[in-house]
Amino acid sequence: MNGLMQDWPLLCHKLLDHAAIQHGHREVVSRSVEGPIMRTTYAEIRQKALKIAQKLQREGYKPGDRVATLAWNTARHLESWYGIMGMGGVYHTLNPRLFPDQIAWIMNHAEDKALFVDLTFLPIVEKIADKVPSLKQVIVLTDAAHMPKTSLTNAVAYEEWLADADGDFRWLALDENAAAGMCYTSGTTGDPKGVLYSHRSNVLHAMIAALPDAMGVSSRDVILPVVPMFHANAWGLAQSSPMVGAKLVMPGAKLDGASIYELLNTEKVTFTAAVPTVWLMLLQFLEETGNKLPYLKKVVIGGSACPRAMTKKFQDAYGVEVIHAWGMTEMSPLGTLGTMKPETADLTGEARLDVQQKQGYTPFGVEMKVTDDENRELPWDGKTFGRLKVRGPAVASSYYGGAGKEQFDADGWFDTGDVAHIDENGYMEITDRAKDVIKSGGEWISTIALENLAVGHPDVAEAAAIGIAHPKWDERPLLVVVPKAGKSPTKDELLGFMQGKIAKWWLPDDVVLVKEIPHTATGKIQKTTLRDTFKDYKLPTA
Ligand code: ADP
Repeated sequence: MNGLMQDWPLLCHKLLDHAAIQHGHREVVSRSVEGPIMRTTYAEIRQKALKIAQKLQREGYKPGDRVATLAWNTARHLESWYGIMGMGGVYHTLNPRLFPDQIAWIMNHAEDKALFVDLTFLPIVEKIADKVPSLKQVIVLTDAAHMPKTSLTNAVAYEEWLADADGDFRWLALDENAAAGMCYTSGTTGDPKGVLYSHRSNVLHAMIAALPDAMGVSSRDVILPVVPMFHANAWGLAQSSPMVGAKLVMPGAKLDGASIYELLNTEKVTFTAAVPTVWLMLLQFLEETGNKLPYLKKVVIGGSACPRAMTKKFQDAYGVEVIHAWGMTEMSPLGTLGTMKPETADLTGEARLDVQQKQGYTPFGVEMKVTDDENRELPWDGKTFGRLKVRGPAVASSYYGGAGKEQFDADGWFDTGDVAHIDENGYMEITDRAKDVIKSGGEWISTIALENLAVGHPDVAEAAAIGIAHPKWDERPLLVVVPKAGKSPTKDELLGFMQGKIAKWWLPDDVVLVKEIPHTATGKIQKTTLRDTFKDYKLPTA
């Protein structure tokens, strides 16, 4: 017997409708790419999105067409997403930090038909447009006055393009399982793989993300998504914010410490989210200037492991609660968040940090398990680690075009490629990417644990641990360290600091100081490049 409730499909544009009706005057503030701060509202954004949908339809775009965006977080980017989805199109976020040829590869794989692009990235498009035959039109997210000369023959300024649209448009009545968005994972090995979100998965993910024990956001929050919309959906904030009606502050192109600090304080931001490297810049700026964060309440940190020292600094020096989170492009992206349960809520000091160092537990809508190589489930004891697998309504069921089939099993579990353990309270801790873990004498050494510990040393800005070939042990750890400005800690100082805090055989065999550690397009330490750089390195123990 079926229930007798209404069939109200979960469609993304309903999020914007709701925001415009209930929170129509709520501001969306952007640091524009042209420079000045621009202010709009959810009601105006909805009107703009209707115009975009109307224009796209008029110009012959059809439901299912992929429309790419290559843009910073701004109101215009947000309008574009909702306009594209509202006419049945699929917004496809491109990561500008990739090489132009990789972007072209991805665009060809997705067969993007149109592209919304920021002024900053126009030179990239000029370089690759010829290599993407499916691309019919380039809409430059600016007005006529700021439109530069371009070698592109099919480019138009966004505001000019929209000028003859009146927004008299009805959102398409779509099936909730229709594709809504697309994002390729950077694929540190092999070709990038496309993840195709549906309207339903995006709406459910927005609800999951907003839950009190997940991100816990409300209409009384002012949300600054520093995490880019081109990086795993801005962690759902472009959907959760209109869902709850929170004021949005969009940082545009400037993500340095001073610029982020300025927005946090002038706009009275209460909630923000980004990868650790962004917070490293902000914390350095605060330390140098002595500034404080009087309005900020919560910061979500994920994308790579949040160092314990960073959590401590935010909480002790600035009174900002840290929520450590883990996720993947394939998961829309949220997987776990490190909020407190009654079992952990009363912990203080180092014991609380022990919990916060873990990546957290799954909200409703995400299931997880760890298994051994034979797919046998491992106990939740806080120490037995294995392959982390997940499933849920906002987790990919396959990649676009069918790549990577081996990562999905018959029971719907997706193998994340991460290695983790889960404790008695359900908190998961990532120990490594399966391909980064150091294999020493048949046992595994967690590179994240080594890095986390090393950056706790007062002279260390950033650290990376990699496995170096060793005649006896197969691999042994090398610690690569970027010292803080003006510091040069010695190997003995660093190893002395680490000693006693981890198993003795986990201690790195050597330490090298470098000026810089390479990062991927999504802000992670680029272990492949580092391993390449040090492939002929001779450890003193070898
Ligand atoms: P990409 O793979 O394209 O760089 P993703 O954001 O999808 O982008 O990367 C997901 C991976 O990032 C996870 O599988 C995990 O290895 C890593 N990751 C994400 N959050 C954390 C975290 N809090 N701690 C450790 N690793 C993390």
